[in-house]
Amino acid sequence: MTRLFGVYGASGCGRGIMPLLRAELAGEDARLVFVDDAPPSDHINGHAVLVFDDFIRDEACSRHVAIAIANSKVRETLDWRCAAAGVEVIGTRAPNVVIMDDVEIGAGALLSPFVAVTSNIRIGRCFHANLYSYVEHDCVIGDYVTFAPGVHCNGNVSIGDHAYIGAGAVIRQGLSIGAGATVGMGAVVTKNVPAGATVAGNPARPLDKKQDFGP
Ligand code: UDP
Repeated sequence: MTRLFGVYGASGCGRGIMPLLRAELAGEDARLVFVDDAPPSDHINGHAVLVFDDFIRDEACSRHVAIAIANSKVRETLDWRCAAAGVEVIGTRAPNVVIMDDVEIGAGALLSPFVAVTSNIRIGRCFHANLYSYVEHDCVIGDYVTFAPGVHCNGNVSIGDHAYIGAGAVIRQGLSIGAGATVGMGAVVTKNVPAGATVAGNPARPLDKKQDFGP
């Protein structure tokens, strides 16, 4: 019997991760599908799309998934669902990802093309580092943290669980980004960000919840 691999999430994030996992599994006795609880169609980019119940019922000697969904709370829920069903949560990375010395990364990390993680770094479960992001020396990053494309995370930064860092954000060396914080696209973060806060701009400031950004 073959091993069954899934990319959980058949939308934008998942379609960007599928080719990376496919390249890693090339030549192995493995079947590769999308898993999605609301399948957009039955096949995407040449792969079948299964709902989770079908994924765990399908014949296979073992089951493994990469959870490729940007929403970190959903990732955590699905991580638990997989554990309960005996499905291994795995990571994958592009062939050109650079990882230097003494780096520990938890299970389920998805590292897109051109990501660099330099030395003496700790990262928790199900980290997403999208295209061209970097993590510099001595950073400590929690569980279910998400980097959109092009995040510049400089040295000695700590980032709490479930933080979301928007595309192109720059985080100054030595800062702390609290759990569940959101850093807006293009923000230049020069001060610590409290847990749960949303900051944006250059220099990044807390967003006034009453401010209306509508048309
Ligand atoms: N999804 C799922 N289970 C969940 C929540 C979401 O399978 O509990 C799927 C959802 O049906 C969708 C994908 O995950 O196909 C998320 O896609 P979206 O475009 O919202 O975001 P992405 O993470 O791909 O940027």
